[in-house]
Amino acid sequence: MGDKNVLVIGGGTAGLSAAVELANLGVHVELIEKSKFLGGHAIGYTCKAIENTCVKCGACMVEEKLQSAVFHPNINVLAASQVQNISQNNRFSANIRQESLVIDPEKCTNCGLCLNRCPMEGAILQGFSKNNHPFYAVNIKKCLYFKDRSCTICRDECPETAIDLDKKASEHTIEADAVLIAIGFQPFNPKDKPYGYGRFNNVVTGLDLERMLKQSGRVKKPSDNKLPQKIAFIQCVGSRDAKLNHLWCSKVCCGSALRMARLIKERQPKTEIAFFYMDVQTFGKDFEPFYREAQKDIRMIRAIPGDIYEMDDRRLKINFVNNSTHETKEEIVDLVVLSVGITPVEDIGTMSRIFKIGPDESGFLRTDHNGVFTAGTVQGPMSIPETIANSGSVAWKIKKYIDGLTIDD
Ligand code: SF4
Ligand code: SF4
Repeated sequence: MGDKNVLVIGGGTAGLSAAVELANLGVHVELIEKSKFLGGHAIGYTCKAIENTCVKCGACMVEEKLQSAVFHPNINVLAASQVQNISQNNRFSANIRQESLVIDPEKCTNCGLCLNRCPMEGAILQGFSKNNHPFYAVNIKKCLYFKDRSCTICRDECPETAIDLDKKASEHTIEADAVLIAIGFQPFNPKDKPYGYGRFNNVVTGLDLERMLKQSGRVKKPSDNKLPQKIAFIQCVGSRDAKLNHLWCSKVCCGSALRMARLIKERQPKTEIAFFYMDVQTFGKDFEPFYREAQKDIRMIRAIPGDIYEMDDRRLKINFVNNSTHETKEEIVDLVVLSVGITPVEDIGTMSRIFKIGPDESGFLRTDHNGVFTAGTVQGPMSIPETIANSGSVAWKIKKYIDGLTIDD
């Protein structure tokens, strides 16, 4: 292994992919991730293969990168960690604060007893990938011990004595020859849109649906856990929206929503699906035949709804104006899925301050100057395969930089 060290900030698809690429090139990587689990948003995405045929959604690629990263001898992972400050004098010197992880990864066997015995919903978190070890984490915002010391069940009953509820946060210093910012994106929060998200149980986001499909393989109505008879997808929620000054297309939502819609039709064929859209963004030649097939099963409605109302029986009434006839119409469904857009993650502000680099006019961050690089959706919307390709090419740029070559060599 070489003596060069790269600090990768962010353990989602981009950070994992770049870390693995660099590690395979003989570079040591310190990978820090803010949350307790690696994999970012995409580790919660479901495989959308239809009739066992890959539809190139990329979900499995994230799992592969995660597995490669956690077992790679050149990669050291610090979960639940954030950069406090950083200085540059030939090399970078970063101060990192790691929250208390509470569960000792050396002792935990992932038996799941703590989750089963915990009386407080949400106090023990569970990852989406078994390659995240431990697969469980204590959520101090919900845990009763951190509230008023009234519960110690998990600590008392863990057969491996892996839980230390009094474990303190720790500080680390990392020296690095280059830094990669791969902090990903933030899904648009649709609470302020007139679609009832957060008020009506049966309005969910595409991300919620991904997780539901990944965890149970079926779509159920959150209100009663029954299968919906009719689902509506609404595209471009928080994208291409002049009122929000979000003028960009999030690029991935049409493909992702149509793949999920087809998967639902395969698994729950009696479900009717309506798909509200402005125009479908079809990227790549493989998408065209997929889209033609999708239109056989899914009712495409070229309109963006105005409002959604919840009816007495919990069904949802969607009002919209038909694009061709200009008539006002309504559609009644059991479940609404909002395809929320990709927006700049809040931490871009912190990164901009720490590294003194400004975001672009849309708020995304792109740089490859003075040893600081960005990769993946922190630069703007991209799909999982695009993120992996982009991160691989940025990893090569970083390798050239730390080897003293100019980036264009
Ligand atoms: Fe790990 Fe202990 Fe929880 Fe089992 S009970 S998953 S060993 S922390
Ligand atoms: Fe759950 Fe009690 Fe453990 Fe907190 S201390 S995580 S509430 S079992």
